[in-house]
Amino acid sequence: MALDLEQFMDGLRRRNPGESEFHQAVEEVANDLIPYINDNRRYDRMQILERLTEPDRIIIFRVCWEDDEGNVRTNRGYRVQHNNAIGPYKGGIRFHKSVNQSILKFLAFEQTFKNSLTGLPMGGGKGGSDFNPKGKSEREIMRFCQAFMTELQRHIGPNTDVPAGDIGVGAREVSYMFGQYKRIANEFTGTITGKGLAFGGSLIRTEATGYGAVYMLEDMVKHRGQSLEGRVATVSGSGNVATHAAEKLVVLGAKVVTLSDSGGFVYDKDGFTQEKIDWVKELKDVRRGRIKEYADEFGAEFHEGQRPWGVECDFALPCATQNELNAEEARTLVSNGCFAVSEGANMPSTLDAIHVFQDAKLAYAPSKAANAGGVAVSGLEMTQNSMRLSWSKDELNERLRGIMGEIHNNCVEYGKGEGDHVDYVKGANIAGFIKVADAVIAYGVI
Ligand code: NDP
Repeated sequence: MALDLEQFMDGLRRRNPGESEFHQAVEEVANDLIPYINDNRRYDRMQILERLTEPDRIIIFRVCWEDDEGNVRTNRGYRVQHNNAIGPYKGGIRFHKSVNQSILKFLAFEQTFKNSLTGLPMGGGKGGSDFNPKGKSEREIMRFCQAFMTELQRHIGPNTDVPAGDIGVGAREVSYMFGQYKRIANEFTGTITGKGLAFGGSLIRTEATGYGAVYMLEDMVKHRGQSLEGRVATVSGSGNVATHAAEKLVVLGAKVVTLSDSGGFVYDKDGFTQEKIDWVKELKDVRRGRIKEYADEFGAEFHEGQRPWGVECDFALPCATQNELNAEEARTLVSNGCFAVSEGANMPSTLDAIHVFQDAKLAYAPSKAANAGGVAVSGLEMTQNSMRLSWSKDELNERLRGIMGEIHNNCVEYGKGEGDHVDYVKGANIAGFIKVADAVIAYGVI
């Protein structure tokens, strides 16, 4: 009997009650995979979709730490080790008050397909905590990171599970966690990526996700016989991914007119320059300020509590967080003439928004393809650590460009539609699935 989407999703919802983000991520993938599996029955006989939607394991732990006033604080830590069929678990750590099991399961599930798409030998995982870094002092952040790693270190290692950064976890937090790992494990290995350059980090890692999302956009636009030059782009977020996406867009000749944070978005009609982007990086990384301050500094418009999708543009790059672009906003983008969307954030578009993009035949790159550049360079950081050498910036950028180009080609191969239209969602889902699924089949029933 053929696999049925509704039946499959009913079972998944029953087994994972209340995990709406996880349901959403699985449904997006199952939508494309079920017809493919029904044409390739061995995947069904071996229950591959059922197995790939059940994480290998989920580790949940208490994290106790002391704040600056001496109060004892308790948070919850997680690591979802989703699948290691093609390599060690690999995926970031997120510190945000919204973190829960559903969000981390969706991220780890997506990560498995994304990592497979990069062509590098990495499985999928994700972790984090509901710890809210906002407003915490430097010492509190350090104490929390150390307490978090004191438990996590039991479950990770260079050949087992290699975490990295994500929302709320940048160079500072990675350094504190790596320091604690090194101290307890008494070994210097590449167990975390996104490290500082002085202790095993890779050039281009910081920039990779944002740059990669723009390379993907460039390839999609080229595939339609056009270029980025002189086009207008809206970008959301103002963290690592957003600022580097904006930077690369500017280098390639596009005009970036928005950035945002959870307080609202800024609209700079004149466009962001490298200088202005550097100012935002300093604002966010060093001063830990709000994007509103940009409007005050440069005389731009600030739209409190709003997202930038109502601003006219040719390209949209959601680079903040999940479900930050809904169907109504997608329709506004389409009616304003936007013709390409590249997702820097993970699952920023709701399922209904994706359907709007697909129906309008936009060049739409889902996150698992568009933001794979970050983990790809993390994979290259692991390689450099194992070889105990460092590649140059140019070499790494070339490799990143090559990997993003390959991801684009794979999406075209499996997602080609009529004329120059490509269903990048379908292409990414199927291309990412095949490698993992074939490995799972090869191992037998385990
Ligand atoms: P950062 O913490 O550097 O930045 C996150 C940005 O998103 C901030 O501007 C933040 O604003 C904003 N944001 C967070 N939550 C919300 C919200 N609920 N509503 C509106 N804005 C919000 O994270 P990154 O740039 O690293 O990550 C951004 C996205 O990219 C995430 O989805 C992440 O999973 C994904 N990603 C990141 C990779 C990486 O290499 N860093 C790799 C692949 C994917 P505020 O300061 O107000 O919270």
